[in-house]
Amino acid sequence: MKKTFVSDAQLKDIIKTYPTPFHLYDEAGIRRTLKDLYSAFSWNRGYREYFAVKATPSPSILKIMKEEGCGVDTSSYTELLMSDRVGFHGDEIMFSSNDTPAEDYALADSLHAVINLDDVGHIPFLDGILKSYPKKMSCRYNPGGTFTAGRSKEGFQVMDKPEDAKFGMTREQIFEAYRELKKRGVEEFGLHAFLASNTLSNDYYPELARVIFQLAVDLERETGCHITFINLSGGVGIPYKPDQPANDIFAIGRGVEKVYNEILVPAGMGDVQLCTELGRYVTGPHGCLVTRVLHLKDTYRHYAGVDANSCNLMRPAMYGAYHHITVMGKENEPVYENYDVTGNLCENNDKLSVNRPLPKLETGDILVIHDTGAHGFSMGYNYNGRLRSAELLLKEDGSVRLIRRAETPEDYFATLIWDE
Ligand SMILES: *Cc1c(COP(=O)(O)O)cnc(C)c1O
Repeated sequence: MKKTFVSDAQLKDIIKTYPTPFHLYDEAGIRRTLKDLYSAFSWNRGYREYFAVKATPSPSILKIMKEEGCGVDTSSYTELLMSDRVGFHGDEIMFSSNDTPAEDYALADSLHAVINLDDVGHIPFLDGILKSYPKKMSCRYNPGGTFTAGRSKEGFQVMDKPEDAKFGMTREQIFEAYRELKKRGVEEFGLHAFLASNTLSNDYYPELARVIFQLAVDLERETGCHITFINLSGGVGIPYKPDQPANDIFAIGRGVEKVYNEILVPAGMGDVQLCTELGRYVTGPHGCLVTRVLHLKDTYRHYAGVDANSCNLMRPAMYGAYHHITVMGKENEPVYENYDVTGNLCENNDKLSVNRPLPKLETGDILVIHDTGAHGFSMGYNYNGRLRSAELLLKEDGSVRLIRRAETPEDYFATLIWDE
């Protein structure tokens, strides 16, 4: 059974101050996960997690990352600005973007972020933007084919066919990119690959490491470029369903260490620093969406209409993703029937669950939708004039802090030009 990180009593108390719907994050859980992650990779000198900002773009969350020794992985102008403002500087900022606008590159350069190139074709584009090339840069690799390591039994994974993915360079292109960057004065090289997302297997990182470490050895030998860091990127998943086993980050760390010792150390590359850009693994389980049942409706199915909708959590509508639901105070009640838990958008895929067995629901019931700590709030949108919810942080001392207020109609109207 999946447990909520807040109790029914705690939540009732929070709702007195903050009306539903809202996302709630668990600071203690996030810090615990980061400490485990760092300890799993402590064998690697200089290891650093660059938290993927897009998963949970909130200064308060990023500050926790900073305090735990992380950097940030950014992909846009706005994420760069936010990271700078939180206090990340220089090589604490990874810039892993694609289809990148010139102003994004210019900002990344002015912040001395580490630019991770998605395409060899961006080098002539950068020639027109950078006054001089930074000393340290990185390139993103796409090996093509299908990557099966870490595919969950349910078969649900966001992206696991590199040949269909828009990201990264082919082997030939990455060799060319390294040579071109070296000509332009780059001295320290990084290598990055992201082959599958939300993997539930302790083998994903080690198998990715095998592919990318071998390429690093070939690249250093054949181009003479000095590779100082390898970025395993994101992709370590979390068990969204109650019966799925969680990844063991310590087994993953040991698995990568074994491949490191097999491939990099004998090649004289035992000083290569590893980085990760995990998002989901770090914050996913430590966030939830709290919502209230507004209406019950029985037609050809049983519907529970809640005050949250897909604008607050897009993953079910977008990927058919499962998010577990706990009915607060009814954790031990038997299943009554299958409910579609729906939002209020004029769009039939606006369902947070489909045919979900739940206890007997009543209007006013508080539902906790699990695992929304990453790619939850941040994917939000404003269809139907629906507004983004508040975000709250449950602090380690048990107090609760508002870290983003709910949008108001004025926010929605702020960008409109009204005719006189
Ligand atoms: C989204 C993303 C991540 C984080 O992915 P998770 O699945 O949340 O671990 C890391 N790196 C890059 C480049 C990304 O686009």
